[in-house]
Amino acid sequence: MVHEITEKESINEWFSKRTWSVSGNRVGAGEEDVIDTKAERVVFPRDTEEVSQILSSLPPSQPVAVVCGGHSSSNTSTVAVANAVVVDLQNLNSVSVDEEKMEVTAGGGVTFRSLAEAVGDADGALPIGTGDTVGVTGYLVNGGISGYFGRRLGMLGQRVIELTFVTADGVIKILSPSSSSDEDSTLFNSVLGAGSALGVVTSVTLKMESGSSFQSGGQVIVPCGTQDSAKRFARLALSFLRDSVLPDESVSMELVVTADFTCISTFIFYDSFKFDPISYVNPIRDAATAGNVPIVVDNVTQWNTWLEAASCLWPIIKEMKGNPLVRMDHSMGTTTYPDDDLLNFIANEWIGGVPLEDASQSIVEIRTLGGAALSGEKLPSGNCSSLVFADMIIAYDANGKSVDERRSIKNSVDCVVSLAREQKDVQVDFSATHSQADDPPVTTARDRGIEIFGSEVKYEQIRHAKQKYDAKNRFQCHPFTSFLS
Ligand SMILES: Cc1cc2nc3c(=O)[nH]c(=O)nc-3n(C[C@H](O)[C@H](O)[C@H](O)COP(=O)(O)OP(=O)(O)OC[C@H]3O[C@@H](n4cnc5c(N)ncnc54)[C@H](O)[C@@H]3O)c2cc1C
Repeated sequence: MVHEITEKESINEWFSKRTWSVSGNRVGAGEEDVIDTKAERVVFPRDTEEVSQILSSLPPSQPVAVVCGGHSSSNTSTVAVANAVVVDLQNLNSVSVDEEKMEVTAGGGVTFRSLAEAVGDADGALPIGTGDTVGVTGYLVNGGISGYFGRRLGMLGQRVIELTFVTADGVIKILSPSSSSDEDSTLFNSVLGAGSALGVVTSVTLKMESGSSFQSGGQVIVPCGTQDSAKRFARLALSFLRDSVLPDESVSMELVVTADFTCISTFIFYDSFKFDPISYVNPIRDAATAGNVPIVVDNVTQWNTWLEAASCLWPIIKEMKGNPLVRMDHSMGTTTYPDDDLLNFIANEWIGGVPLEDASQSIVEIRTLGGAALSGEKLPSGNCSSLVFADMIIAYDANGKSVDERRSIKNSVDCVVSLAREQKDVQVDFSATHSQADDPPVTTARDRGIEIFGSEVKYEQIRHAKQKYDAKNRFQCHPFTSFLS
């Protein structure tokens, strides 16, 4: 018997445990003070066969929502839709490593902490995301990107060598890049950017890189104190990011601005980096001097292993909480080198215009991408082709915030995102992992699909896969709901 919960009270308890944050669009509009799940029941399969049994036993029109880590910014699968059966994959939590082949296999419910620890123990490396509690498959099936490791190791999806996939009617498929039929190899590729709309991934095998692909890494931390000061420092840091880091694929840089206007410049030096890391970042020190702001941490070689770098944000993310924590994610990115106007916009508006003081758990991140992620196998994800990627995670504790305050935060954020759309040569909210799926559409479904899946060809590929594998739209709780059914 598959364990399940059906009592409304237990389902609500499950919801509050499994939902990391609630969408700022819901509480920000002031319409919903208490956010609940619409799920009719929640089931907890223990293996692929049980997932298959669940799906094949349900009426074809019954919606199914899949939960891995529960971090979707718009609560696509934990809030779900009326009559939905939620398949919570938390029991599919095994991780096994084949050190000889440098492969790691993770169950569909594994989160990044256990994957990272197993990979680190094997002296391996993977392009993982920054949050330890984020679901590995939830990241993978929506085209997740690694700001720290993507330039050297590509996207996680580009490292998948096999995945187990269950279709809407319960058929189990083992997919790989060399699947025997063209249909299956196209499905394999489709799952790595749009899998949340197509079926359930119950396990994934990834090719690790050697831990020696990572040379060293660390941070320069500059508490700027005020938004104006953070804007000035960030503008200089962004010039360094574009002019020195972007052309050099042996290093990556991420500039994070926190809600108290601390600017954290993180550098990851890969095995091919040939310079002295300490003097390489002199322009960041110069930017602090020019802005008359202190440097409180200056240690760009503080991490000696891939795992130390991969886990550096875990303690900070652990402190992000609320009752509930409210969140809105947005992104903008370029496929070419950004010009001065765009860097000015990022400093003045993307950093300077968002309500960081009011949403006190927010962060703004600007990262270098490209490199292996760009040159590798094309996945159906806008994340693939980005060179400079700026996102904002606007987050605050709902407790104690009035409806007007919440609405004002949401309006300020919406305003900056609209301004971003007016910039030239930039894509906005093109990333399935860094946008609000519950935002009202601003373009046609087709244009949205092309943006999110990265090209017209990929959009058509996903539409075709949706028709073929989920024509009845059983899987409708995913980031693509507004334009793919
Ligand atoms: C602190 C934090 C750090 C983050 N860092 C990064 C980062 O560095 N890079 C990045 O790209 N993103 C990052 N993200 C965004 C994150 O990758 C996405 O929100 C991701 O989709 C969350 O996956 P999840 O499994 O935790 O969430 P869930 O809400 O459980 O799942 C998200 C979506 O994927 C579907 N899904 C989940 N598992 C499966 C499965 N096995 N089969 C089919 N569908 C499935 C769900 O139905 C849902 O629609 C971060 C988010 C947070 C909160």
